[in-house]
Amino acid sequence: MRSLLVTGGAGFIGSNFVRYWRRQYPADRLTVVDALTYAASPDTVRELTADAGLNFVRGDIRDGELMRSLVTRHAVDTIVNFAAETHVDRSISGPGAFIETNVVGTHVLLQSALAAWASRGPAANGGRWRFHQVSTDEVYGSLGATEPAFTEVSPYRPSSPYAASKAAADHLVRAYHTTYGLDVTISNCSNNFGPHQFPEKLIPLMLVNALQGKPLPVYGDGENVRDWLYVEDHCRGIDLVLSRGRAGETYNIGMNCEQRNIDLVHGLCRELDALFAREPELASRYPQAPAAAGRPTAGLIRFVPDRPGHDRRYALDTGRIRSELGLASGRAFPDDLARTIAWYVANSAWWESLQAP
Ligand code: NAD
Repeated sequence: MRSLLVTGGAGFIGSNFVRYWRRQYPADRLTVVDALTYAASPDTVRELTADAGLNFVRGDIRDGELMRSLVTRHAVDTIVNFAAETHVDRSISGPGAFIETNVVGTHVLLQSALAAWASRGPAANGGRWRFHQVSTDEVYGSLGATEPAFTEVSPYRPSSPYAASKAAADHLVRAYHTTYGLDVTISNCSNNFGPHQFPEKLIPLMLVNALQGKPLPVYGDGENVRDWLYVEDHCRGIDLVLSRGRAGETYNIGMNCEQRNIDLVHGLCRELDALFAREPELASRYPQAPAAAGRPTAGLIRFVPDRPGHDRRYALDTGRIRSELGLASGRAFPDDLARTIAWYVANSAWWESLQAP
C-alpha cells in the first residue's frame, strides 16, 4: 500500500489521474493538494471533497511548511507533481506566475520532500520514496517537418515562458537526484486531451465554441503539428514510471499521433456534425450550433494571427517507456476524440461554470 501526494489534482490531468488511481489502487492513501487557481473546476473540487477515500487540501506548492507537514502527517512515500500554470498564451502575457509556480513551487516541493523524508531516516519505508515531475514535450522546442522525433536525450530548447519554466523545473528535479540522492523520475508528455480539460486549450475551446456558434480561432496557417495523447493513456504511463521507472530517469509519454491543427479541427467539426445528425434532440439543447440547423460546423473556422514564438511541430520518440516499462498502445485516436466530444456535449454545466461571464 502506498501513500501518494498529488499536487494540482483539481486540474485537468491531475483530476483524471486521481480518478484513475482510485479505480486501480483503492487501498492506497491519497492526499490531493491544489491552490484552486482559475484552472481548477468547482465541480471537480466538489467531487474530490465528497470522496471519503482521499484527503483534499486547498494549498499552494510554494508553501513549504504545509507541503512538509502533509508529507509527514500522511506518511507520503510518493509525490506526483502536476501543479503548474499551463496555458502558453497566458505565459506570454504574464510570465511571472509561471516562474512562481512552475519553478519556485517545484523547488519548494523538492525541498519539502527531501526534508520530510530525510527526517524519517533512510531505512524508513524500506527506503522507498519517489518524487515524480510531470513535464512536457515543449521543453525540447520545435521540430522541422522531417526531423526525427525528440528522445529523452534531445537538448532542451524551450520557446515560450511556459516551456522555459517547465524546463527549469526539470533541471532542478534532476539536480536534486544528482546532488542529494532524492529518488526522482520525470515524464515529458505530448498534448493531452480528454474530459475535464479547461476550455482554453485547443480541443475543448473548439468544442464549446462550436456548440455556442462562436468562431473557431486557428493560429497562423493551421499547419502546426501536435502529437496527441489521451489523458487516460498518460495516467497509465505515469503509473508505470512510478512503479518501475529507474530513479533519476526521464520517460517520454506519447501515442505517436501527430496531426496538423487544421486537420484536427476539421475532424472535430465533422464528428460534431455527425453526432447532431444521429441525435436530433441535441438541436434544442444547443440551438446556436450550426449543426443544429444542419449547417457544417467547419464554417465557423477563422484563421487568426499566429502566437509569438509558436513552435511548428512536436513529436515524441516513446521507445524507452515502451521497451523498458511496457507501455502499450492506446485505443484509436478517433474513438478517444469521439468519447471526448460526447463528454463535452453531455456536460455543459461543467464548462459553462468555467467560462468568463
Ligand atoms: P491545468 O491547468 O488543468 O491544472 C493545473 C492545476 O494546478 C490547477 O488545478 C491549478 O489550480 C493547480 N495549481 C496551479 N498553481 C498551483 C500552486 N501554486 N499550488 C498548487 N496548485 C496549483 O493543467 P493540466 O493540463 O492538468 O497539466 C498538469 C501538468 O501536466 C502540468 O504540470 C503541465 O505542465 C503538464 N502537461 C500538460 C499537458 C497538457 O496537454 N495539458 C501536456 C504536457 C504536460
